[in-house]
Amino acid sequence: MRKLFPLLLACGLSLAHAAEHRLEGVRLGGQDYVPLADWARANDLGWRWFNRDKTVEATNRTTRLQFDADSAQAEINGVRVRLSFPFAVVKSRPLIAQLDLDTAIRPLLFPPRFTDARPVRVICLDPGHGGRDSGNRVWWRQEKNYTLPLALELRDQLKKAGFSVVLTRSTDTTVKLPDRPALANRLKADLFVSLHFNATVAGRDEVEGPETYCITPIGASSSNERIENTEYGSTVGTGLTLANRNEQKSLLLAYQVQKALVRNLAANDRGVKRARFAVLRDAAMPAILIEGGFMTHPAESKRIYDATYRRQMAQAIVKGILAYQQATAPPATKPSRGR
Ligand SMILES: [Zn+2]
Repeated sequence: MRKLFPLLLACGLSLAHAAEHRLEGVRLGGQDYVPLADWARANDLGWRWFNRDKTVEATNRTTRLQFDADSAQAEINGVRVRLSFPFAVVKSRPLIAQLDLDTAIRPLLFPPRFTDARPVRVICLDPGHGGRDSGNRVWWRQEKNYTLPLALELRDQLKKAGFSVVLTRSTDTTVKLPDRPALANRLKADLFVSLHFNATVAGRDEVEGPETYCITPIGASSSNERIENTEYGSTVGTGLTLANRNEQKSLLLAYQVQKALVRNLAANDRGVKRARFAVLRDAAMPAILIEGGFMTHPAESKRIYDATYRRQMAQAIVKGILAYQQATAPPATKPSRGR
């Protein structure tokens, strides 16, 4: 927390929000936790038990948050967001980790004014895998053969929407993980979007739905370290990466894209998750990794292999990017018709 605080201040948090750090807290499992009731009151939200001692909701006119005891899975305005630490109920008192308020809840409910935000012009798309690296294999299907057509479709749609687009690969070639964000950095892209499809281990073919990753906050562990350590060449740790400079913007982008994916595709919401994937942690701009669905699910896999569905998925991603752009635009350049 001590390390994180100056960083958040540097990101433009107002002093009013900084005052929240004085909420009376407790230590749980080595983390600072604060009573949800106090935080909710300080932010004009009411709260109640949805299910006594189990599920809490905090609401006001525009916001609905839901938390479950002993679970890191939260819901923010209808979209699932993975917290870094489990929500806790101690003696019937709901408690939330201060780090989650700082790095997951507040940036989504009260996006800071990004005075440094420039309009999104260049978007770097990263079709996962390629060449010698097939990605997930399910029967004769190879992940790399679906991430590329999705990227090409998305490129066309983003261009129609007025963006410039660069690709880390446009053919079936091998591209090393570090070279992918490096290209985006060299070309000074404004956003980095990596595209993948998921698979489960044998016998778990009921799992379905998209999930969207952004960088893990400093001081937290990632949502799924098993995947992180194997497929994506990442390191376990709690330290600062280049990507943490854009942590709040990456979270907003991941949230808007995940929301558009689950709404537009009527898909199961696997949520916004956090990881220090190699392609995310070295990106110098807001960066996300989309797992568009499961190649191991009988019905979802058929959709993934279908160009019409991938076109809808690309439409959803464009919609999410446009929503992100609107949410982060500096006040002066916001369209006058309001929000
Ligand atoms: Zn992949």
